[in-house]
Amino acid sequence: HATKKTMADHLRKYEALFNLTPQRMRMIVEAFKESLELGLSKHGQIVPMIPTYVFGWPTSQELGNFLAVDLGGTNLRVCLVTLEGKGKFEITQAKYRLSEEQKQDEGQKLFDFCGECLKAFVDANHESGLIPKGSVLPLGFTFSYPCAQDRIDHGVLIRWTKGFGAPNTEGHDVVEMFRNSLSKHQVPAEIVALTCDTTGTLIASHYVNPKTRIACIFGTGCNAAYMEKVQDIPKIANLGIDPEMQMAINCEWGAFDSFEHENLPRTKYDQTIDESSNKPGEQAFEKLISGRYLGEILRLIICELIDEGVLFLGQNTYKIEIAYSLDTAFLSLMESDPTDELLMIIGIFNHFFALETTLAERQFFRALAKLVGRRAARLSACGIAAIVSRMGYLDEGCAVGADGSLYNKYPMFPERIHEGLFDIFGEKGKNVVTYRAEDGSGIGSAIVAAMTKFRK
Ligand code: ADP
Repeated sequence: HATKKTMADHLRKYEALFNLTPQRMRMIVEAFKESLELGLSKHGQIVPMIPTYVFGWPTSQELGNFLAVDLGGTNLRVCLVTLEGKGKFEITQAKYRLSEEQKQDEGQKLFDFCGECLKAFVDANHESGLIPKGSVLPLGFTFSYPCAQDRIDHGVLIRWTKGFGAPNTEGHDVVEMFRNSLSKHQVPAEIVALTCDTTGTLIASHYVNPKTRIACIFGTGCNAAYMEKVQDIPKIANLGIDPEMQMAINCEWGAFDSFEHENLPRTKYDQTIDESSNKPGEQAFEKLISGRYLGEILRLIICELIDEGVLFLGQNTYKIEIAYSLDTAFLSLMESDPTDELLMIIGIFNHFFALETTLAERQFFRALAKLVGRRAARLSACGIAAIVSRMGYLDEGCAVGADGSLYNKYPMFPERIHEGLFDIFGEKGKNVVTYRAEDGSGIGSAIVAAMTKFRK
């Protein structure tokens, strides 16, 4: 007679779906490399490979006081960074919460608010004596939304992302707008550089660790930046920049394989996420990797098994059937549960979803989390490997500064990236080492401002 499938039987099916063989990874790396090259050669490609106008590496000897302003997703952050040379620095900072209304209100008002906060911050630091009265400090502005730049102190917003929608900003030079706000509030600061967080991370990480060649972000989204010789960026060949100079490239690699969907191993869960997202077809690589989606992948598998009558028979499952109700942070917790009974997983399902679980189910969930998390790390390794291979960094080795909650908090994420690099490159893969990056939008932005100032 037919026997009922055990959870272990079910698991085998998912193992086959989420496994990535070394051979498959190498194929992805090759396609990734081609995509990077295409982005460097022509404008408007899938992986846009954005020139940042940050020229060359910092020397680690940059000195002085700098302001840094980061207009990120939830907060406005303002920092005073004192670069002390020899890769050392001090930082003082303040955060201001942005309301949903401010994100949708008139654009100039948003920058005026930034100016107002910066003014308050500078005044407070005049009193504390950290900023000498009468000085005008150079300012690095971190603005991580797609901008068209043709020099470092200029950037036209192409479109808002991350829930911003302030009118009369898209199509405008955001540096000019912010500059207006600074003069309106009489802030003693001069904007010298506009950067994104990934480029800032690259520069900050190199400042403290000169072996750094690449920076990656694994957070809500995923992205990477690295340094390219100007002569190897054909799409800017006509700008008359010294071809021997190096320029940081903001890859925006989350877009790899978008629309064509030819290279990445997408399961039907990944397809569902894509189709029901607000931007179907876009950010294909990011949707398999970043913190925004990993929890949702696991949730979709669980929902499939609920529909098949395998899980939670007789229980009310409406809570877990709500889209995006399973945060990626839960996967971290599941994987790091130290108890034999998997008490953490009991707690998660009980508390957040009002569901009872058996030990076999909990072991199954933990194994699923591992499959999803491991695939994300191995795909991340493919992206890193594509840059390493393009730039010929394998023999001498290089360091990769990485930031974001996924990298910093998901158990084994760095180890799994390293394992992936070993599977792609063999023994030499061990020459590529990731480490926790420095704060890109504070320190990095200040260093970029310093580099710009010294070049002038
Ligand atoms: P951002 O990228 O928005 O600047 P983070 O780097 O903190 O911010 O990334 C936030 C993302 O990381 C969210 O998608 C969240 O689900 C995920 N996340 C938060 N905490 C954890 C955790 N402990 N483990 C894994 N992922 C997490």
